[in-house]
Amino acid sequence: MRYSALLVGFFLAISVAALIFAFYIVFRLRKLHGFWQIGLLFVMEFIYALGYGLELASDTLLLKVIFNHVQYLVIPFIAITWVYVANLYKNPRYKPKLKHYAPLLVIPVFVLILAQINYFTPNDWNYQSVALDPDWQMGALAMPMLTFVKGPAYYMHAIYNMVLAGFVVYTYLTTYLRSGGYHKKQAMILFISSLIAFIVPITSLFNPESTGLDFALILIVVISFIIFYSMTRYEVFYLKPSAHLATFERSSDPIFILDDIYELVSWNLAMERDPSVASQLKYHMKLEEMFTDKEMVQAIYDNAPISYQRNGRHYVAEVIALESKRNQKNGYLIKINEMTRYVKRIEDLTYQASHDELTAIYNRRAFIERAKHYLEDAHRQGNSFALLMIDIDDFKVVNDTLGHLAGDQALKTISVELAKTLPKGSILSRYGGEEFLVLLKDIGIEDANRVAQVLLDHIRTYPFSYKDQNYQLRISIGIAFTEDGHLPEIYDYIKVSDDALYHSKREGKDQATLIIT
Ligand code: GH3
Ligand code: MG
Ligand code: MG
Repeated sequence: MRYSALLVGFFLAISVAALIFAFYIVFRLRKLHGFWQIGLLFVMEFIYALGYGLELASDTLLLKVIFNHVQYLVIPFIAITWVYVANLYKNPRYKPKLKHYAPLLVIPVFVLILAQINYFTPNDWNYQSVALDPDWQMGALAMPMLTFVKGPAYYMHAIYNMVLAGFVVYTYLTTYLRSGGYHKKQAMILFISSLIAFIVPITSLFNPESTGLDFALILIVVISFIIFYSMTRYEVFYLKPSAHLATFERSSDPIFILDDIYELVSWNLAMERDPSVASQLKYHMKLEEMFTDKEMVQAIYDNAPISYQRNGRHYVAEVIALESKRNQKNGYLIKINEMTRYVKRIEDLTYQASHDELTAIYNRRAFIERAKHYLEDAHRQGNSFALLMIDIDDFKVVNDTLGHLAGDQALKTISVELAKTLPKGSILSRYGGEEFLVLLKDIGIEDANRVAQVLLDHIRTYPFSYKDQNYQLRISIGIAFTEDGHLPEIYDYIKVSDDALYHSKREGKDQATLIIT
């Protein structure tokens, strides 16, 4: 009797533990991850273990049968729930489809009804007969035990359970095969334990009577704990809190949370180090006390992102409204992102897209863009301007005699000297290999000619040398001049300046030609 009391206590303890876990999973972990389906499994095990403990504790056949009925409220549905949980393990975002689960529910519902209505009829499909063995004995254990002869529905249900357990085994096996690292080890343990759960019930198929302890219950509970541990430890207990720490607490970006009346309720470490916020952050501090910057405060009220610069660094503050389950705004999360790196990168790319790599003056694309823009104004207002095409004379000779590096150096030098000599507001660009395009804005014909002469003189007298070798650079210029910008396209002027340049070359180089359009 002493041992049997221990046994009853053991099963009742399992039942209590399952209930506590069910609550824990449903109410606490659900918030964290939504694995409430394992909670459902534990609820079932609670009812199963409670029914079984009470069945063991009872002395009469009637009471034992009643408590057996209690167990049969949940037993038919354990296998299908396992399938659900296994699918969830494989994919945490798994959503069950009714068309898959509805057919699987037919047998459990059938077994449930049979088991509940028909214990004492002589030809019960589930239990063919039920009796009380008053002197049941196993080792030192002796207690009255319910014995029954299995009916056809019992076997059908056992086979159904095996098929579903087989599917669970398959699911864990495939998860094992396609996963790695920590997940692989877990899937391995789950695969082995579900394999045991699959094999053990097979033995019950070969025994027409059932008397004795319900090892299946113990097995199911143990495996459920393993599943629970595996699913939660990896993600909820380990990865999720790490992710939370990394994205909030230990984030290098300042983050803080305001409640619905814009009072500070939480902030991270980076926030305490941020020089733009008040030095002493306090719980329930008002937004206006946190920031002296009025624009920043307004942006937060407006729920709008704001970008600003401080000490040469760029920041974007984003405001995310927090909502309760009933879609009511109950607070705000404000994240201050340091964008200096990205802004710098964009600036670099913008510069690279518009400047020539060698000479660092505008490239063709940037020139055309700016010239087009200017032409629109000139066209509308009837402004005069000049477009200069400049080509270095006998540049091949520089390359051939001094080498390509010297040629590059000459290009850089000429760019610098042209830029220095040109009037303010002119647009200088490298148009091609050793050709430059210059736009002289709002200029008269005389001044345009004069500028060209100054450029020619300057380059002609410029003492260019490369590695102690002197070389006299010279340029030729073609000028397209217009009184009123009447030609519609910038390319029309380029064509005219090219013709003018060709003329300068043909006439002996080192000179300028002006063509009036
Ligand atoms: P011309 O007086 O008729 O202009 O004679 P040229 O030798 O200058 O003839 P052209 O304008 O056809 O020569 C262009 C040369 O410029 C050919 C090419 O090798 C050289 N070149 C173009 N781009 C570069 C560059 O980036 N670096 C160097 N070193 N040479 C370049
Ligand atoms: Mg040339
Ligand atoms: Mg050329």
